[in-house]
Amino acid sequence: MSAAEGCLPRVPVRRILGLLEQAYPEAHCALAHRDAFELLVATVLSAQCTDERVNRTTPALFARYPDAAALAGADIQEVSALISGLGLFRNKARNLLAAAARLVEHHGGQVPADMEALTALPGVGRKTANVVLSTAFGVPAIAVDTHVLRVANRIGLARGQKPELVERQLQCRLPRSAWSAAHHRLIWHGRLVCHARRPACATCPLREVCRYARTAERGAVAAERASGS
Ligand code: SF4
Repeated sequence: MSAAEGCLPRVPVRRILGLLEQAYPEAHCALAHRDAFELLVATVLSAQCTDERVNRTTPALFARYPDAAALAGADIQEVSALISGLGLFRNKARNLLAAAARLVEHHGGQVPADMEALTALPGVGRKTANVVLSTAFGVPAIAVDTHVLRVANRIGLARGQKPELVERQLQCRLPRSAWSAAHHRLIWHGRLVCHARRPACATCPLREVCRYARTAERGAVAAERASGS
């Protein structure tokens, strides 16, 4: 057991992966994109925004700036106007221009398939880099967003609120070949069933393996006994 796994509870990892696969066989990245550049831009834009909203915004942006060279030479006001329907759009516009400039300067205008190079781009953290690595380049990776963080903690696959720690824990626990698919499936499960406020535990396909559900059940039984005594 590694340090990252440390004090993690024992959970049936294979069963969890099997149930996730059964429930979401087609889970995939929901951000519309045609290449690594578009995926990188869309993922940067998706911070604190829904993918649907980003997908409504990017067609006009990509039509005007189809690659890093075009975006690096863009007018920031124009880019801001094109993405103004998204939260934090001024920061995002600034980061996109700076990232595009760095792509042109250091990578011949191409998106590098390399974690260190990706996270050196302005506005690109590990989550964005992992999305690009797994989806655009087929590199096994687990991007820990708010859904992955919440669902992995509830099921018992991870413990902690720091995305980097949870990423390491999931990497330790899941077979490398399952990383990318599991990441998409955990996101879909978080969006569709295991909601932040009211998880739909009663109808959840992972209920039998979920620590959160078991704990809630025990609490309910204890409360029932207490009220009957
Ligand atoms: S049983 Fe409830 S908490 Fe557990 S994964 Fe399902 S919806 Fe989430």
